[in-house]
Amino acid sequence: MATELLLTFAICRLIVTVGLNVKPAELLVLGFGGGRVSTEWHDLDAASRDFGMLPPSKAETPPLAVVHPSTAEDVAQAVRTAQSGRFAVSARGHGHSINGQSRAPGGVVVEMTSGVGGGRVAVEEGYVDAWGGELWIDVLKRTLKYGMAPRSWTDYLYLTVGGTLSNAGISGQAFHHGPQISNVFELDVVTGNGEISTCSEAQNPDLFHAVLGGLGQFGIITRARIAIEQAPQRVRWIRVLYSDFSTFTADQEHLISLHGGNQKFDYVEGFVIVDEVLTNTWRSSFFSPRNPVKISSLGSSDSVLYCLEVIKNYHESNADSMDQEVEALMKDLRFIPNSVFSTDLLYVDFLDRVHSAELRLRSKGLWEVPHPWLNLFVPRSRIADFDRGVFKGILGNNTSGPILIYPMNKDKWDDRTSAVTPDEDVFYLVALLRSALDSGDVTQGVDYLIDQNRRILRFCADEGIEVKQYLPHYRSEAEWAGHFGAKWERFRRNKMRFDPKHILATGQRIFEPSGVGVHHPHMASW
Ligand code: FAD
Repeated sequence: MATELLLTFAICRLIVTVGLNVKPAELLVLGFGGGRVSTEWHDLDAASRDFGMLPPSKAETPPLAVVHPSTAEDVAQAVRTAQSGRFAVSARGHGHSINGQSRAPGGVVVEMTSGVGGGRVAVEEGYVDAWGGELWIDVLKRTLKYGMAPRSWTDYLYLTVGGTLSNAGISGQAFHHGPQISNVFELDVVTGNGEISTCSEAQNPDLFHAVLGGLGQFGIITRARIAIEQAPQRVRWIRVLYSDFSTFTADQEHLISLHGGNQKFDYVEGFVIVDEVLTNTWRSSFFSPRNPVKISSLGSSDSVLYCLEVIKNYHESNADSMDQEVEALMKDLRFIPNSVFSTDLLYVDFLDRVHSAELRLRSKGLWEVPHPWLNLFVPRSRIADFDRGVFKGILGNNTSGPILIYPMNKDKWDDRTSAVTPDEDVFYLVALLRSALDSGDVTQGVDYLIDQNRRILRFCADEGIEVKQYLPHYRSEAEWAGHFGAKWERFRRNKMRFDPKHILATGQRIFEPSGVGVHHPHMASW
């Protein structure tokens, strides 16, 4: 009874606030079945927040309700109600966006992590079925019970399947396996029309390709059939340092050109070291904090160093041959002598490495802080210019967090998906994963770092470096059109087809909702 009263209250608020033309009974029905509708303050507040914690969020209109679905049908019902009521509806994965992408100001947030996890692990056929709101860590745990694991990863596993597939899902395996969106066989999607559609290469391929990398614009992923392989038991994890950027990138590019059997590493990443002490970043648990490695101790006069990071997967029974393969691969690299840091650990511990850093930062109150991140795909032909202008220029000697840099092969990305990459065979991810601190030092503050991001983007524009944002954030349709380039017309057509009322994922700020009475903040105010 209390729940129904709350719901009635929520519906009245929706009607008054946004002029809904939905019958209250239609919304009420959302509260029945397996799903649950909440208008409780803490739910609304949680659904308004994201990992970015950037200033505009404080002024933002919260959603008016949060739906906790249990099944795809609950999601479809929420979307159908939103469609007839003409209010925004956004899926929220784990809310690990930076710029409010999973919000639905004045609308309804579908909290996907509440759905039922689980799904078939088909060892012979090589796939696992996952609920769209399932965390990758849980998918990993389920598949490991069968000695299997997905092939392509993100560095951090507390992200949802639907959330990363709406972007791309990249990590050091992408050079070989492609991003996560290249490792999906089939999806169940609730489109903006409220229909549940199964799609794949063979069935509804337009929807399938549109949704992958589609920033939530065409439908809510409720199930993904993900490629899996036999899981290795352990990994050899190696880091080596470079002072010369072109030597570093040449070695990275050499390593991502290797694809044959055991004659390759299984993961290739890297990062930039601008700060003096190598432990001064949350990715560096590898270097012992009790024994900090100083740049100067390596005999380098350069203020910037580059760290190549590779792993080799193996089974205990093959440890000897793995040693030889690693040795052969390392012989071809030209890193600073005596700068080899190597460790050996369980595969699952390697994949889950960022979580340990998260727990450490949480214990110091350094996780829930603003994160003005900037992620860029930089074409290989201009990465040296980027190094000169950004790593050795704009950043100065203060990075405020890890800076990842690693190359990927474009032929591992399917151009039919909505994801956008530079127009070159090889491009780099540059990820500036900064945390802003309220320490009194203005250069660590959120405004300074946001401004630095703008300067980096302006530098790229002025120098004609055709970067593409990963996890993109733009304010106007013209900017989005520029981002999607040749894919823009198709993206727009797909929107008309699969979400004609523009009710889905309005937090991305790509399309103005077209429905009467939809409350939406001015795009320009962002
Ligand atoms: P949300 O942030 O909740 O949602 C993101 C977007 O997807 C929103 O527009 C939302 O509406 C939409 N969406 C969510 N669920 C669905 C669904 N089921 N169907 C359709 N649309 C949906 N990314 C990488 O590629 N590689 C990395 O290594 C990596 N590391 C990260 C590490 C950390 C610590 C963090 C915070 C993020 C990292 N990311 C990485 C970024 C991550 O992929 C994005 O934040 C992504 O949005 C996934 O987060 P989420 O599941 O919380 O989705």
